[in-house]
Amino acid sequence: MFKKILVANRGEIALRIQRACNELGVKAVMVYSEADREAKYVKLADEAVCIGPPPSAQSYLNMPAIISAAEVTDAEAIHPGYGFLSENADFAERVEKSGFQFIGPTPDNIRTMGDKVSAKQAMIKAGVPCVPGSEGELPDSPVEIRRIAKAVGYPVIIKAAGGGGGRGMRVVHTEAALINAVQMTKAEAGAAFGNPAVYMEKFLQNPRHIEIQILADKHKNAVYLGERDCSMQRRHQKVIEEAPAPGIPRKAIEKIGERCTAACKKIGYRGAGTFEFLYENGEFYFIEMNTRVQVEHPVTELITGIDIVKTQIRVAAGEKLPFKQSDIVLRGHAVECRVNAEDPYSFVPSPGRITLWHAPGGPGVRVDSHVYNNYFVPPNYDSMIGKIIVHGDTREQALARMRGALGETVVEGIKTNIPLHRELVVDAKFMAGGTNIHYLEEWLSHHKR
Ligand code: ADP
Repeated sequence: MFKKILVANRGEIALRIQRACNELGVKAVMVYSEADREAKYVKLADEAVCIGPPPSAQSYLNMPAIISAAEVTDAEAIHPGYGFLSENADFAERVEKSGFQFIGPTPDNIRTMGDKVSAKQAMIKAGVPCVPGSEGELPDSPVEIRRIAKAVGYPVIIKAAGGGGGRGMRVVHTEAALINAVQMTKAEAGAAFGNPAVYMEKFLQNPRHIEIQILADKHKNAVYLGERDCSMQRRHQKVIEEAPAPGIPRKAIEKIGERCTAACKKIGYRGAGTFEFLYENGEFYFIEMNTRVQVEHPVTELITGIDIVKTQIRVAAGEKLPFKQSDIVLRGHAVECRVNAEDPYSFVPSPGRITLWHAPGGPGVRVDSHVYNNYFVPPNYDSMIGKIIVHGDTREQALARMRGALGETVVEGIKTNIPLHRELVVDAKFMAGGTNIHYLEEWLSHHKR
């Protein structure tokens, strides 16, 4: 096992990784920008290194600053968390060339999966079903693009090969709008992701977002930890996640889970990863793979009893997975609400000082958050300030616990989306289970304030 790890992230996930290190008896070096000097995990840290001014480009995305922080503190490995450099193959490569272990898959695997076109091609080869669409990147010729769209069938969705975070996507309903939409998505993709390549998929009308969590080691072992349902989304961004997915037969999950672990073995995947699918009419369609720990990993931890972050660290150190597929048992139901510093109805970010913070508690309630009374939410980063996660024997019990937990939570000084969550967890259709990816947007359009 490593003696010391550098945590190249901020916010709740930095604290989550620090906690995993503490449990493993590994020292954690925390890095921070000038805006995060007062962060809880910085104050609690064995060692902490300032890596630059508030803008991410000069701190959390500053590869030389992060690697030199690892050098000066004698860390042996770097955990990238999620977002920032976590899916940057060049960073993983530089980390390993500098003599550190990157806590994640190989740079090659990150590169293949980071480009959604090559990821889909790899998955088709590995026998994982994908959304029908263009075979690879769209060509330049408008005639060709129209021909592909006709073959796929409208509506189609134009997606950036290098896209992420729900950005770089455009739905097209008619041929008249097609070429313009392709050109706009290309221009945006070039500016936002440095890669103008786009591809086309059939736009599925009523799918659910179902994803499979996998863990793999360096010894060709891989397991899947069941699924998560992340269909409650706004602007392609997840708002509420749960596990298991209501109403999907276990046999269907097992079949797709086995495909995912087979694909991992085939490509030599190591670490934690998520295969994301759209699920419609009983069929799974792969959309992308995330080669890192995800925001919503706790719902899986609660129903499996497996610590995903600790396992990531263990397998990076070369240990074998301590469990086989037959050891994975799912128990009960878990739900997560992402807590964002934003107006609950206009979604305008609401950074600033938290004058009062009361986290919920009680049986089956977990709060992953780095904030505290009098904490200042900096305006420079993502608005998520934490997650409330509950576990119960049944979905009904989990939702009842979530209602209690949201009712107990007090945040003053800034706005949060907790009022929205309070309404969603009593919504009859959500309570019934199985709502699709458009449900939340439709709900919001009927509940305008
Ligand atoms: P990102 O990497 O930006 O998260 P994804 O490819 O994972 O992008 O897609 C994010 C979300 O966009 C999905 O969860 C789904 O809501 C929507 N989406 C993506 N592809 C399609 C599609 N072919 N049909 C319908 N919705 C889609």
